[in-house]
Amino acid sequence: MSKTILITGASRGIGRAAALLAGRRGWSVGVNYVRDEAGALAVVKEIERAGGKAVALHGDVAFEADVLEMFEGAVRALGPLDGVVVNAGVVAPRAHLADMSVERMRRVFDINVLGAYVCAREAARRLSKSLGGAGGSIVLVSSAAARIGGPGEYVDYAGSKGAIDTLTLGLSKELGPEGVRVNAVRPGLIETDIHASGGEPDRAQRLGVTAPLGRPGLPDEVGEAIIWLLSDAASYTTGAILDVTGGR
Ligand code: NAP
Repeated sequence: MSKTILITGASRGIGRAAALLAGRRGWSVGVNYVRDEAGALAVVKEIERAGGKAVALHGDVAFEADVLEMFEGAVRALGPLDGVVVNAGVVAPRAHLADMSVERMRRVFDINVLGAYVCAREAARRLSKSLGGAGGSIVLVSSAAARIGGPGEYVDYAGSKGAIDTLTLGLSKELGPEGVRVNAVRPGLIETDIHASGGEPDRAQRLGVTAPLGRPGLPDEVGEAIIWLLSDAASYTTGAILDVTGGR
């Protein structure tokens, strides 16, 4: 069945991969970005070429007004949503907690936690049956760091993803009776730009070999899990946190 979905942070990496997989299924996709407009427009073009419908939506998830505008823009362009992927996230350069500034931690928590909570809230408002929605599916993008802790690298980021796991558990129970499934994927070391943004472009390659499957993952391999959780094939799955980590 065709779906209309919104993906935060879909101009690059895991969000982009999920958007393109959705487009190949003929789904309609809201492609959110914050800086990389060209990347988002390229994703839109590729989805349209594959037969889907798409729109690029600017918005910084750390700002409530941007999130509201992004959701309104998605519905205006594509119609009512069936699914939302809360994916946008950032890391900061490798550091011990003792050396982290409040500004750094605030940015990580503003985007990864507050941003995710506000996006999930907007999804809940639009999908919940008692609020006039038709039900649907929310997929949150956590990280294996939530259970590993990120020592010596980024305990702030790891904690922000712990919050995503907890949100997934609580919100799935709140929204089950509303016809809304809420699940998370917990990626391991995936080859995207996020590692370069943390100052370590080769991090996924370097550490990926330590995973039981012996390599880092590809964005598509996480995208497939996201699409499955959004789809009707996952109709009895809610409150699940699915590791996509090569066994790490
Ligand atoms: P990425 O390649 O760096 O892409 C990040 C995406 O998020 C981009 O589309 C970016 O938009 C967007 N974004 C960043 N800040 C934003 C903001 N404030 N508002 C809206 N959009 C924003 O990252 P990725 O590796 O695909 O990561 C996606 C998610 O997976 C994140 O939540 C990350 O924590 C999680 N994850 C990744 C890995 C991994 O190894 N890659 C592992 C575990 C979890 P612009 O292009 O416009 O900047």
